[in-house]
Amino acid sequence: MNIDPATNRIDSIPYRRSPNCDQRPPETPIELVVVHSISLPPGEFGGTAIERFFTNELDPAEHPYFETIRDLRVSAHVVIYRDGSMRQFVPFDRRAWHAGESRFGDRRRCNDFSIGIELEGTDTDPYTSVQYERLGQVLEAIKRAYPSVHAVRGHADIAPGRKSDPGPAFDWGQLSSRLPEGMGMA
Ligand SMILES: [Zn+2]
Repeated sequence: MNIDPATNRIDSIPYRRSPNCDQRPPETPIELVVVHSISLPPGEFGGTAIERFFTNELDPAEHPYFETIRDLRVSAHVVIYRDGSMRQFVPFDRRAWHAGESRFGDRRRCNDFSIGIELEGTDTDPYTSVQYERLGQVLEAIKRAYPSVHAVRGHADIAPGRKSDPGPAFDWGQLSSRLPEGMGMA
């Protein structure tokens, strides 16, 4: 897996441009990867709802839950689906809107200096082995392209009390063996 330095995108996966992003603040190296989980509607896997959510194309009439998120404008850089397929929505040099109110050490607004990776899943359903495999490959590629990245955390770690993903189902032990050198977990 490789990140093209000209586009700041993984060159081997489909790109669906999300409008929900903007410029990072100047002189702000990327330091952190935030792991999330998402499923739409919650607990249902497959389909294209996540993709449509991140591109503001979700039809609120399609499902009662979609009505509750109709005004949200969010994104992640990359989604890793349960079958291991992936989509990129925001180039890594841009600021995706994934972390919200958040804190890493004594720093706030984690979106400024982080990359957001969504795993298709819930807090309680075991993630698939191929998702761990892909996540490891993405982290390797990120570390190679952006050596300033030095940490990976769950959304719950940077927004405690407000967010719970990727939840107890996420096996940090499985990730630890796949972490690139120079990138640490909590
Ligand atoms: Zn999250």
